[in-house]
Amino acid sequence: MTATEHPRLPMLAPRRGKPPRHFADLDAVERKDALKQLGQPGFRAKQLATHYYDHLTVDADDMTDLPAAAREDLVAELFPPLLSPVTQLVTPDGETVKTLFTLVDGAKLECVLMKYPDRATLCVTSQAGCGMACPFCATGQMGLTRNLSAAEIVEQVRLAARAARDGSLGGDPVRLSNVVFMGMGEPLANYNAVMTAVRALTSPAPEGFGLSARHVTVSTVGLVTGIDRLAGEGIPVTLALSLHAPDDELRDEIVPINARWKVDEALDAARRYFDATGRRVSIEYALIRNINDHAHRAELLAKKLRARGDGWVHVNPIPLNPTPGSKWTASDPAVEREFVRILRMHGIPTTIRDTRGSDIDGACGQLAIKER
Ligand code: SF4
Repeated sequence: MTATEHPRLPMLAPRRGKPPRHFADLDAVERKDALKQLGQPGFRAKQLATHYYDHLTVDADDMTDLPAAAREDLVAELFPPLLSPVTQLVTPDGETVKTLFTLVDGAKLECVLMKYPDRATLCVTSQAGCGMACPFCATGQMGLTRNLSAAEIVEQVRLAARAARDGSLGGDPVRLSNVVFMGMGEPLANYNAVMTAVRALTSPAPEGFGLSARHVTVSTVGLVTGIDRLAGEGIPVTLALSLHAPDDELRDEIVPINARWKVDEALDAARRYFDATGRRVSIEYALIRNINDHAHRAELLAKKLRARGDGWVHVNPIPLNPTPGSKWTASDPAVEREFVRILRMHGIPTTIRDTRGSDIDGACGQLAIKER
């Protein structure tokens, strides 16, 4: 497949400065306060939430249940534009769309929307860049520009949900049913904004998009304190631990946060997450040729997972999507098959993860780096 530039979205000129206050950043009390300052009664919060989360609109003309004189002001004050599309790449079948956005301060983010026969999945970004410095990752090479606000995350979801609903992915309209925090950044390093966004995703309409928590996946490179905090939230999202190596010697090199929390500590935290939530944890493992794809590493991974019990974990090996100019590349398919075979032989449920979008710079950060 070849990717094509997609001119469908209007371009907005990026503005300088921090993200302005947005409805999706505010809790119930703050929304009422904001409305009071605008001379509006508190019950407008529910009307605005219905337009935003249920109707997926920020267009004042759609808000006919609000007083005509106040609509434009309310939208300008509470729904300022946060994301300006820069580039959109679409696979020829129209079913995978990658969008690069500029934020108000010029920072960049990317997200990927993938359509399946019965659903659509969005891969969202939680930080502009990433400070975790994994050497095989395009985003890691950029460093961290800044954390996204909750509304900057939620807006990615609203725009994608609208595109899926309106059928702009090609074929029949579908419902955005799954969101994975696997775009740019380490979600648990931007904990508060990510959790505000997760609540907006999983709260029933009109206070949120009404997604099932099990259809929301938060990935982490292994921030143990963040995993434990997430376990206590009472929102049983799926946790994906990006492990990439079962031994500290290698993981210290390819996942630098391992210097702070070792493999065993990260796996213990993942197991605690399962105990607290009942949600089976995904172990993400980017298969990198001659780096981490050895049979003995598959054996060690299986041993460490089995040592922590049965039925709590699922492994997703992912053929590495190489960054242009990088020495890191995907494992040979035969090596990949052997890695999977060993895990399964030890009773570990294992599924090769879909690499949809790899032909449109699908690995997180690739489009943003090109744009730079
Ligand atoms: S792999 Fe994930 S945690 Fe590591 S640098 Fe890339 S975005 Fe950050």
